[in-house]
Amino acid sequence: MGLEEKVPSGFMLTTVEKVVGLSRKASMWPVTMGLACCAIEMMATGTPRFDISRFGMEVFRASPRHADLMIVSGRVSQKMAPVVRQTYDQMPEPKWVISMGVCASSGGMFNNYAIIQGVDHILPVDIYLPGCPPRPEMLLHAILELHEQVKNAPLGVNREAAVRAAEAAALAA
Ligand code: SF4
Repeated sequence: MGLEEKVPSGFMLTTVEKVVGLSRKASMWPVTMGLACCAIEMMATGTPRFDISRFGMEVFRASPRHADLMIVSGRVSQKMAPVVRQTYDQMPEPKWVISMGVCASSGGMFNNYAIIQGVDHILPVDIYLPGCPPRPEMLLHAILELHEQVKNAPLGVNREAAVRAAEAAALAA
């Protein structure tokens, strides 16, 4: 008797890695990291009109120790940078970062000494979201894009090292 006859119909095979990836993407917990005007759109994303809870993540955590996603929404000042980094360090692995808006991603219009010219100077960034400010629909789209990364992330890999290696490879190409 062949394997096909022995296995009942509807039987599904998968890997632990895939189950963990699907579970993680379905229950991401963002840490509160509103830094400027973009944060208003991030907060709007949590309202019933845009309903971020459809994607299993309506609860923004006040403690980084309970979070696996940081949405950096707004420009990062030099004074705030150590706090952002410390908050990131306090999040348990694995963790992901969305840079929301041009200011968080590149300094935007604030090309001056007081503003970090891109949060990727202090953190590994997984998704860059353009716009000033990006609308809630755009943030939801970025989150769905991130879900693809989360779903396929290998187990036991240092995320920061992986993101930095990908950045270096992109620069070398
Ligand atoms: Fe404010 Fe625009 Fe900068 Fe967002 S990108 S923090 S909306 S100035």
